[in-house]
Amino acid sequence: MKSPDFDYFRASSLQEALTCLQAHGANAQLLAGGQSLLAMMNLRMASPQILIDISRIPGLSQIERQGSVMRIGALVTHRQLLDSAEVATCVPLLAQAVPYVAHLAIRNAGTLGGSLALADPAAEYPSVALALQATMIATSLRGERRIAAADYFQGLYQTALAEDEILTAVEFPIATPGQRFSFQELARRRGDYAMVGVACAITMSDDRVSDARITFLAMGDGPVLASHAMKALVGTSLDAAAIQASQQALSHDLAPAGDLQATPETKCHLARVLMGRALAPLRSAA
Ligand SMILES: Cc1cc2nc3c(=O)[nH]c(=O)nc-3n(C[C@H](O)[C@H](O)[C@H](O)COP(=O)(O)OP(=O)(O)OC[C@H]3O[C@@H](n4cnc5c(N)ncnc54)[C@H](O)[C@@H]3O)c2cc1C
Repeated sequence: MKSPDFDYFRASSLQEALTCLQAHGANAQLLAGGQSLLAMMNLRMASPQILIDISRIPGLSQIERQGSVMRIGALVTHRQLLDSAEVATCVPLLAQAVPYVAHLAIRNAGTLGGSLALADPAAEYPSVALALQATMIATSLRGERRIAAADYFQGLYQTALAEDEILTAVEFPIATPGQRFSFQELARRRGDYAMVGVACAITMSDDRVSDARITFLAMGDGPVLASHAMKALVGTSLDAAAIQASQQALSHDLAPAGDLQATPETKCHLARVLMGRALAPLRSAA
């Protein structure tokens, strides 16, 4: 199927894009990598009157270390993330998640900002952003706004971005020496959207867990913070008994709806198994 007719505007600067966005409001959609939006338009799930192409705006494709954070521009592609040695070193959880995002052709065009703006509940980056307590930078003609990941994801395909705002960058805290990370996902085929996925960021001091952040994808309307499972790990040595207690605590954190791939019970079972697989190697990780 072909998309409905639309007007097209290629912005050559952020200011131009913001001005156009403000003028057209809800009738406009931003076009970044187009890997989700164009398919949605062809399926008539989206029918913007005008597409504002932001893909060539300069200054939004950088990966920069700034003090204790990595600031990653919204137009950075999945491929750029995969190829970045700095991301691998400084934001290992993000680096571990990228290979699970779609396929090569899609990774060449799709962007970090596009994924976080779409907020698909089965996408990898939202759960990574929530686990790492990343900060979204939203820009409008009114100025720049910083939004904590915990406040940013607001439900099924819903974010805190206002109609006139563009997500311009994301700041991820740089990993500290005591931190250990694991990202695991189950999908029917490599590159498909996840049936279940988990992102873990564990902080150890003196061989004890001093902080644990665990989030799930494809288990709710957005990324799900597993606070009971996290609490069960704090103060432990991340031994088998602690991991088991954490897996049991998941019953208080997860209440997924069933989908075409699995029943709620199957998804919860897979989530428990996957979290166990993710946590077990972290005990001995350097
Ligand atoms: C076959 C297939 C498999 C896929 N598998 C996965 C997968 O396993 N995991 C996964 O995470 N994704 C997957 N994707 C989606 C892919 O990752 C997309 O690249 C991503 O979701 C959207 O990024 P984009 O740059 O293409 O955004 P676009 O498609 O251009 O835009 C998506 C939406 O975000 C808005 N938007 C884009 N950029 C911004 C911005 N900077 N500020 C505000 N709003 C913005 C657009 O207006 C639009 O509403 C898959 C896609 C396909 C086609």
